[in-house]
Amino acid sequence: MTSARYDVIIIGTGPAGLGAAFHLSDLNPSLSILMIDREKICSGGLLNDCKQNYTYPTGFAEENWTRAEAERLLPLVEEKLQPTIKEKQNLEIYRKRAQRIGVTLLDIRQAHVGTDRSRLLIDRMMSELTARGVTIVLGKEVTDVFEHESGAGITIGEAERVYGNNVIVAPGRKGFSFLQQIMERLKIAYVDNHVDIGVRIETTLENYPIVRDYYDPKFFFPDGVRTFCTNSGHARVIIEKYQDFSLVNGHALSEEQTANNLVNFALLKTIGLKDPVRSGQQMAVYLGRLAYEIGGGKPLMQRVGDFRMGKRSNAETFNDDLYSAFRPTCPVTAGDLGLAVPAKIMRHIWGAMKKLDTIIPGILHPSTIMYYPEIKMYANKPAFNDEHFRVCEHIFMVGDGAGTSRGITGAWASGIRAAEGIVGLRQTTQREP
Ligand SMILES: Cc1cc2nc3c(=O)[nH]c(=O)nc-3n(C[C@H](O)[C@H](O)[C@H](O)COP(=O)(O)OP(=O)(O)OC[C@H]3O[C@@H](n4cnc5c(N)ncnc54)[C@H](O)[C@@H]3O)c2cc1C
Repeated sequence: MTSARYDVIIIGTGPAGLGAAFHLSDLNPSLSILMIDREKICSGGLLNDCKQNYTYPTGFAEENWTRAEAERLLPLVEEKLQPTIKEKQNLEIYRKRAQRIGVTLLDIRQAHVGTDRSRLLIDRMMSELTARGVTIVLGKEVTDVFEHESGAGITIGEAERVYGNNVIVAPGRKGFSFLQQIMERLKIAYVDNHVDIGVRIETTLENYPIVRDYYDPKFFFPDGVRTFCTNSGHARVIIEKYQDFSLVNGHALSEEQTANNLVNFALLKTIGLKDPVRSGQQMAVYLGRLAYEIGGGKPLMQRVGDFRMGKRSNAETFNDDLYSAFRPTCPVTAGDLGLAVPAKIMRHIWGAMKKLDTIIPGILHPSTIMYYPEIKMYANKPAFNDEHFRVCEHIFMVGDGAGTSRGITGAWASGIRAAEGIVGLRQTTQREP
């Protein structure tokens, strides 16, 4: 590190951190900025799939954002990410079918980069930031954030201290315990009462052809269930490893790659917790561990055909007749979701799948796979002191980890809001009635 003191220190090089770094240097090119990440590759969640949604409220935490505020910042996000917006077809047909059974289909401006090409995008971002004089340090873990007489600073590893005037903390969802630890130590109040729990569906393109018309269709079903993060073309389900459990997720390669003819997407139910159980994180960990135990150290999968018959799936039956269409794209244990998913969540997800099959017949084909658990733990929300996500005089918390966003564009926009707070630009917009 070239300097022991910076105007701004940014923890995390994901979209929230990048949004802050770019905007700070746009507003004041002479600021000294340090970006630090524990990973050896810069980027955070930009590295996976990199679908970008440019329509509010997708990707934004509505309690922190008005439409006007999101729409003010989304063009700034777009200017830096330079997306190619995808065309949509037959939207009205799907919308009408959905409306008839009480389902809403949102019309979202979207772009898709693909995991194989996202690295190029990240390299471009890094070169631009380096050219602007931003110091980027990778492969170093921040263990603490502290306040000092004239600002705030960070501790790296055991004891290396770096001082700054301001610190932006943007550690993403995987940084939830780090964030919690800092909030406890700095006595910052926080709430953690929401969590999204659900399954990832994997099927063939023939069973879910809407993706040819609308890359990532956003359906909202009754009972708080929605589709989320659809991937197609060359798509795979992947495992996200946590300390004592694993979750599933999905991504796809760019359209330039040979298609594997599969689609995957999440069906998530939002759970709002009230007294006496109030920690979404804790609920996620308990459910994650339960599935991990039942799956023998791996997530679970069950074919729709087996689920309907009330029997578990078996690895041996993967090649039988109707199930032979495709094999799971990630290492999981064939079993019985009913043993691991809370009954109410399973009932609501199954209800949503039946409605989806009415709108786009095919998804309930017996070969369709349901993977579990897919859980989004982004509800570690601090009490913010202002509209710039300030939590102490010189400390800001943004992105999915702090609950200000739920996706790449929202995270980037959150970083911009923190940057505006630091440079003292108070761009407030009219609150919607
Ligand atoms: C498989 C997968 C696919 C996804 N696909 C999409 C998609 O297509 N579209 C979309 O909008 N969203 C997608 N997401 C979600 C998206 O990645 C996040 O919404 C977004 O990255 C959040 O940005 P962030 O900056 O808040 O956090 P992150 O992108 O998670 O970045 C946080 C960074 O902080 C670093 N960090 C954490 N703790 C520390 C520490 N103590 N010290 C130093 N560094 C630390 C991490 O290493 C990480 O690089 C996907 C997520 C996954 C896992």
